[in-house]
Amino acid sequence: MKKEDCIFCKIVQGELPSRTIYEDGDFRVILDLKPVTRGHALILAREHADNLYELPEETAGKAMILARRLAGIFREKLHCDGLNLMQNNGEVAGQTVTHFHLHMIPRYEGDGQEINLVPGEATQEELEAVRKQITE
Ligand code: 5GP
Ligand code: ZN
Repeated sequence: MKKEDCIFCKIVQGELPSRTIYEDGDFRVILDLKPVTRGHALILAREHADNLYELPEETAGKAMILARRLAGIFREKLHCDGLNLMQNNGEVAGQTVTHFHLHMIPRYEGDGQEINLVPGEATQEELEAVRKQITE
């Protein structure tokens, strides 16, 4: 279902222009307006879901299959050296557009970009406490 005032719903429906590189019944894949690298693309779910929590599992599975297929095409056509998949959920995680999308970010030797998450420290006890919290 389309959500009023959702910019990605409008793009998916073709009501706002985009550089579309792929379309099917479930997704429209567009080039990001502010690419972090050459070829930065967004896999947009056709049906509005705010984020991964709301996305039907079947669509989530299809999104990853599509990413896998596009990864090969990007490597072949853009000659990228690597690829980041990124998917943000919630403001705290950096989500700025509240409509499910999966970033495909081709990486090139010397592209100057970095993923700035800093590894921390955890004791074995802390790791075990987290494991229990998630699994029990
Ligand atoms: P988020 O931060 O929500 O994970 O990512 C949103 C992305 O959408 C950003 O990379 C931003 O550049 C991109 N974006 C925002 N508005 C538009 C738009 O109107 N058209 C396109 N093609 N990309 C957009
Ligand atoms: Zn939407």
